[in-house]
Amino acid sequence: MQTHGYAAHSADTPLAPFSFDRREPGPTDVAIDILFCGVCHSDLHTARGEWGGTLYPCVPGHEIVGRVTAVGSDVSLFSVGQTVGVGCMVDSCGHCPSCQDGEEQYCTGEGGFIGTYNGHDKHLGGHTFGGYSAHIVVDQGFVLRVDHDEKDLAAVAPLLCAGITTYSPLRHWKVGPGQQVGVVGLGGLGHMGVKIAAAMGAEVTVFTTSPDKREAALALGAKDVVVSRDAEAMAAQAGRFDFILNTVAASHNLDPFLNALKRDGTMVLVGVPEEAHPSPSVGGLIFRRRALAGSLIGGIAETQEMLDFCRDHGITADIETIPMQAIDKAYDRMVRSDVKYRFVIDMQSLRDEVAA
Ligand code: NAP
Ligand code: ZN
Repeated sequence: MQTHGYAAHSADTPLAPFSFDRREPGPTDVAIDILFCGVCHSDLHTARGEWGGTLYPCVPGHEIVGRVTAVGSDVSLFSVGQTVGVGCMVDSCGHCPSCQDGEEQYCTGEGGFIGTYNGHDKHLGGHTFGGYSAHIVVDQGFVLRVDHDEKDLAAVAPLLCAGITTYSPLRHWKVGPGQQVGVVGLGGLGHMGVKIAAAMGAEVTVFTTSPDKREAALALGAKDVVVSRDAEAMAAQAGRFDFILNTVAASHNLDPFLNALKRDGTMVLVGVPEEAHPSPSVGGLIFRRRALAGSLIGGIAETQEMLDFCRDHGITADIETIPMQAIDKAYDRMVRSDVKYRFVIDMQSLRDEVAA
C-alpha cells in the first residue's frame, strides 16, 4: 500500500515529500499509523551522508510512536487501537548468539540487524524507510508496548532511541546509588542520560560546551555542571567519576574526560562523529586501569524494560514539537546544539499536507 513521507534525495538537498510502498501486513506483522517521530542526530548524519553508505531516497526516523491499525493472523502480542513504539531496528537474524541473548543490535547474522531506515528490505527489496512517514509495517518482535499517558506520547517517542541508547550502557555497567556519573553533551541522548542515571540513584555531573545549559542541566536532575571548554575546571575533575557516558556528536579530545575517571572507571562512547576522535593517551588509561568502551542502542527486551522504567519514574523527553515541513530548519539548529532537547515531528502535519 502507498504511504507518504519526507525523504532526502541526496546529501545536500532539503528533505522533500515522497510517496512509496509499505508491504501488506503478513501473518506476524503489525501495521501502525505514526503519530510522532523523534529527530535523532543519526537521522541528520544519515540524510546528509556524513557517515557514507546512505541509500537515497532516505526516509529517516527511528523514534516512532503510533497506533496499531491492523495485525497479522499470528500476532498475539498486539491488537488494533493499541499505542506502540518502534525504535532503531525492524528485524534481525533471530538465531545468532546475540539475537539468542536478546541483544539484537549486535546481530552477527548476514548483514546484522535491519535498521528501521537505510537497512535492507527483505520483503519488498531495496532499502527500509523510517518514521518520517504516515505509517509503517513491522514484525511484532520489533514492536514495543507504550503504556505512558496519552498526553505524553510525543515526549515518549525519543525514548525509542535516545532513551534506550543511554539506558543500556547505564544498566550494563551497573550504574546505581553512591556512584559519580558524568554525562558529556547535553543534547537528545545526553538529557535522557541525565534523567535516567539520576533515577537509577547516581549523582550526575553534566559536561557541556554550552555554559547557558547550566540551569537546565540542574533542573533535569544533575547535581553539578562542568563547562568542558574550561581547561582548569576540567583538570579539577581528575579521578572523580565511576562512569562517564559520552554522547558528543563531534570529534573531540577524550583525554580530559578519561582523566576525570577514578581508578577502574569506564567511559562509554555512544556518539558517532563524522570524523574520528584523536587517539586517547595510553598513559591516561593504564595508570588508573581505566576503560574506554562503546555501546549501541539496546535490545528489544531491554527497550521494553526501559519504557516501563521511564513510565514508573515519570520520565519522558523534553521536546519541541515541529511540523514535518520544518525538518531542515530543525537539522540546522541541531548542528548548532540549539535544541532543548529533542525535536519531535507531529505526523498530523504530514497527513494535513497530503489531504490538502
Ligand atoms: P544532539 O542532540 O545533537 O546532541 C549532541 C550534543 O553534543 C550537543 O547538544 C552538544 O552538547 C554536544 N556537542 C555538539 N558538538 C560538539 C562539539 N563540537 N564539541 C563538544 N560537544 C559537542 O545529538 P544526539 O541525537 O544526542 O546524538 C548524539 C550522537 O550519538 C550522534 O553522533 C548520534 O549519531 C549518536 N547516536 C548513537 C547511538 C548509539 O547507539 N550509539 C544511538 C543514537 C545516536 P553541549 O551543548 O552540552 O556541549
Ligand atoms: Zn537515534
